[in-house]
Amino acid sequence: MTQKILLLSCCAPCSCAVIEKMAQEGKDLTVAFYNPNIRPFEEYERRLHENKRLCREYDIPFVDLEYDNERWCELTSGLEDEPERGNRCSICFHMRLKRVMEYAIENGFDAVASVLGVSRYKNLAQVNAQAQKASQETGVAYIEIEARKGGMQERRDELVKELNLYHQDYCGCKPR
Ligand code: SF4
Repeated sequence: MTQKILLLSCCAPCSCAVIEKMAQEGKDLTVAFYNPNIRPFEEYERRLHENKRLCREYDIPFVDLEYDNERWCELTSGLEDEPERGNRCSICFHMRLKRVMEYAIENGFDAVASVLGVSRYKNLAQVNAQAQKASQETGVAYIEIEARKGGMQERRDELVKELNLYHQDYCGCKPR
């Protein structure tokens, strides 16, 4: 039986080449947008809109989860001065991955994957470690994605241009 996969996407640029590849491979894929880390809200809405538009291009179902920025701020409180790739990012990855795994259980998905480690500014091992932690806590399988090799970065750049995708210049959280 085909595995039902729920893919956590942070934005259209990081997910475009991965979605295209999985769609071409005939995967049973749904994209989940759960990014309460993104500030300000107008920026969140812009990335949400672009991710929806991308999924329409490939006819991939799209799930829009809640914008729980208050909880994200509580969880990362005291870590405002951490650098990117530091402890704040570990908590941020874990929160988002665990919520998507809980959604996967409630909605009959077999596994979760994410594009949180696609950007070259991210530490892929850090993302995968938090995904494994959330996977052990929820019992949901996690599929690790490597999208920086095998021409995937080049394809990402091409698709950003071809589809005229909005490309932000920061990860998601802003100093508060
Ligand atoms: S830099 Fe990105 S991954 Fe790290 S805490 Fe901020 S929004 Fe989350």
